[in-house]
Amino acid sequence: MIKTDTIIIGAGPVGLFAVHQLGIKGLEAVVIDNLDRAGGQCIELYPDKPIYDIPAVPVCTGEELTKNLQEQIKPFGTEFFYNERVEEVKQDKDNWIVKTNNNNEFIAPNIIIAGGVGSFEPRKLSINDTERYEGKSLFYSVKNKDELKNKKISIFGGGDSALDWTLELSKFSKITLIHRRNEFRGTPHTLSEIKKLENEGKISIKTPCQLMSIEGDKKIESISIKFENGKIEKIKTDTILSFFGLIMKLGPIAEWGLNMNKKTIEVNSENFETNKKGIFAVGDICSYPGKLKLILSGFHEVALASVECFKRARPNEKYRFEFTTSSKSIQNRLGKK
Ligand SMILES: Cc1cc2nc3c(=O)[nH]c(=O)nc-3n(C[C@H](O)[C@H](O)[C@H](O)COP(=O)(O)OP(=O)(O)OC[C@H]3O[C@@H](n4cnc5c(N)ncnc54)[C@H](O)[C@@H]3O)c2cc1C
Repeated sequence: MIKTDTIIIGAGPVGLFAVHQLGIKGLEAVVIDNLDRAGGQCIELYPDKPIYDIPAVPVCTGEELTKNLQEQIKPFGTEFFYNERVEEVKQDKDNWIVKTNNNNEFIAPNIIIAGGVGSFEPRKLSINDTERYEGKSLFYSVKNKDELKNKKISIFGGGDSALDWTLELSKFSKITLIHRRNEFRGTPHTLSEIKKLENEGKISIKTPCQLMSIEGDKKIESISIKFENGKIEKIKTDTILSFFGLIMKLGPIAEWGLNMNKKTIEVNSENFETNKKGIFAVGDICSYPGKLKLILSGFHEVALASVECFKRARPNEKYRFEFTTSSKSIQNRLGKK
């Protein structure tokens, strides 16, 4: 069981800035995110797009904002738990215990839910009974490419992930790239590399077609795909990689007994506490009169929530409001002597 002052659910921009606001008050945190990296919507939905309304930053991309936030919280050495979805929450006197789908358990007096529009999850294959292969021979992301050496891999999808992994894995495995349209969405350079590999006979491309069935009992032996003209083809396959994009799911958070308003969590806008003492909601996932789903609103919300977190985590200490420009203790925490 990992003990900390605050468990932050979500490593989007608001979850990242929560680490900062807690850190300058001397509070520790852990951050849990279902994805394999920080940034939330900024990284998953618009990494290259310019953002023009971050105060004092005339323009930055989603990726730059994420990198700067990560840089800003480096002094706190916070531990991040990626690829873990928070599933359960239970109360233990004045503390909360949080459990993830990897069976990690965390205990803290505070939880800050910065879950945005819910956890981003891969869109799954639409045929029945594919769960039995998941994590063994059917993958929705690549965690360790060394495990995919010398395989017969069928890759589904038409975007960057499908194209990039086709290029990478074709160095040591037999790849069939399958897409329901004739056109792929990738940079001109990637598309020309893919064409080159196909012309050299190093990969095989099948379009426009869709997966019809998977054959094999315990292990995948082959797949059958159906072309738009009705033709069916069987392809020897031992591994499937599927990249059909991400969907957002509020998931188990909706069942924690928090007061919900449509798909958001109602909070008291004085401290962003929910109807459960010690559970806070900030960023896109919270709602209160006048809420704006903007990054700058989320930053303000964590500043106030962190004050209440301090009071709960340090009940015997008095909270003192301080400026970063003049507070020696804040500057020490930031490693500035
Ligand atoms: C195209 C686009 C353009 C935008 N442009 C702007 C702009 O110009 N200016 C602006 O201010 N805002 C903009 N926004 C909105 C902005 O991106 C959001 O307000 C911001 O990302 C909210 O941050 P967040 O940290 O609350 O949530 P998110 O960024 O959604 O991050 C939430 C994180 O929580 C994780 N999570 C959720 N549930 C769980 C769980 N149970 N377990 C583990 N992890 C979980 C998710 O995987 C995700 O990584 C834009 C949004 C979009 C889509």
